[in-house]
Amino acid sequence: MSAVSNIYPTAALQALDAAHHIHPFSDTKALNEEGSRIITHADGIWLTDSNGNRILDGMAGLWCVQVGHGREEIAEAVNKQMSELSYYNTFFKTSHPPAIALSEKLAELAPSHMNRVFYCSSGSEANDTVFRMVRHYWDQMGKPDKKVIIGRWNGYHGSTVAGTSLGGMKGMHEQGDLPVPGVRHIDQPYWYGEGEDMSPEEFGVHVARKLEEAIDQIGEDKVAAFIAEPIQGAGGVIIPPETYWPEMKRILDERDILFVADEVICGFGRLGKWFGSEFYGLEPDLMPIAKGLTSGYLPMGGVLVSDRVCEGLIDKGGDFNHGYTYSGHPVCAAAALANLEIMQREKLVERVADDIGPYLQNRWRALGDHPLVGEARMEGLMGALELVPKKGERKTKFADGGSAGTLCRDLSFQNGMVMRAVGDSMIISPPLVLSHDEADQLIAIASKTLDDTY
Ligand code: PLP
Repeated sequence: MSAVSNIYPTAALQALDAAHHIHPFSDTKALNEEGSRIITHADGIWLTDSNGNRILDGMAGLWCVQVGHGREEIAEAVNKQMSELSYYNTFFKTSHPPAIALSEKLAELAPSHMNRVFYCSSGSEANDTVFRMVRHYWDQMGKPDKKVIIGRWNGYHGSTVAGTSLGGMKGMHEQGDLPVPGVRHIDQPYWYGEGEDMSPEEFGVHVARKLEEAIDQIGEDKVAAFIAEPIQGAGGVIIPPETYWPEMKRILDERDILFVADEVICGFGRLGKWFGSEFYGLEPDLMPIAKGLTSGYLPMGGVLVSDRVCEGLIDKGGDFNHGYTYSGHPVCAAAALANLEIMQREKLVERVADDIGPYLQNRWRALGDHPLVGEARMEGLMGALELVPKKGERKTKFADGGSAGTLCRDLSFQNGMVMRAVGDSMIISPPLVLSHDEADQLIAIASKTLDDTY
């Protein structure tokens, strides 16, 4: 790409892009009229576009570049692995050193009751794996009627058929007649947007009990699992009220169903712990992972599997008829190992908990004083600003929902920073290597962008 970008000016690149490329989650017709935004280089937390502008990557790519862009160490590890063993699979009882070393490393980092991992190439594939794995587990345990998986409205678990079905994005369900049968959804713990007249604490318990109601309604003997992100990312950084997860944990502990914590965003330090479940004191049976596993340098995902699930999956014997050509890909595994080595050496997880996390959170929450902002929330290094037409009135929304967010997102880009808009919420999730000075720049651009949008 950099070779192409050196040869062609931006307009020529945009024309080629418009002619041949269908973009994910985009109105490609509209995009072709506007011209795509072309990123040619990146280092640290900074992107460079095809016009030479430097842009602060406030989203760490797509919530994934924990160690920052352009780390030579990862490039070298990948290069070395490419020469030694560029590809071999892990099917049919075959293995190779990078997959073995990474599995050992993940067992070391994961909660103590999780000691095994199944590999794939993305978060979506991880959740497809979850779908099949929980049903296989219950079959093996002699309870084949346990098939229903409960997810949450506005949860996000990927874009494949299973991922879209488990997720609760209605706009995605509408395209393709999803969810597939056997998936149900309960309400999300979104107090700011849906908390009606309750306090956050009351709402947290109220909405958690929807899980209990759903299990009773479906019948516990038919429910296989519940899946949720510790904090919903793509749904708008929905940080649950503090009563929510303790009540959910009570229900999950009492019921004979599996708990799947989708750690694709919250894992690998985003909340100041290796996994978001640890941040909330949860003990999941399965944890889909991706993104921060390789910091996005190469595509890789997986499912961390608890000892309890291994009892059905492994101890009872038999093939699990599932897998991907690139499960445990040696070069991706080498990238993951180099990435995790950097994270451990530079103590990035601890940094989020004790240093840059609190530093950014204080400044981010102060943006809540802006007349356009109804709530400024952040946990670890993921945060949101709720834009509102009338300060102090949580329930008054913009008439043309989403347009304030879109405007703010575009102005942010013009001002030199990527922020994402989810409706009228502005989202931030920067690389974990963000320095104090860069955090100040992030806040200054966000503040100016709010003024420009107002
Ligand atoms: N799960 C969660 C919580 C995610 O946020 C995402 C992607 O944003 C996915 C799964 C899907 O991951 P991928 O895009 O790698 O398929």
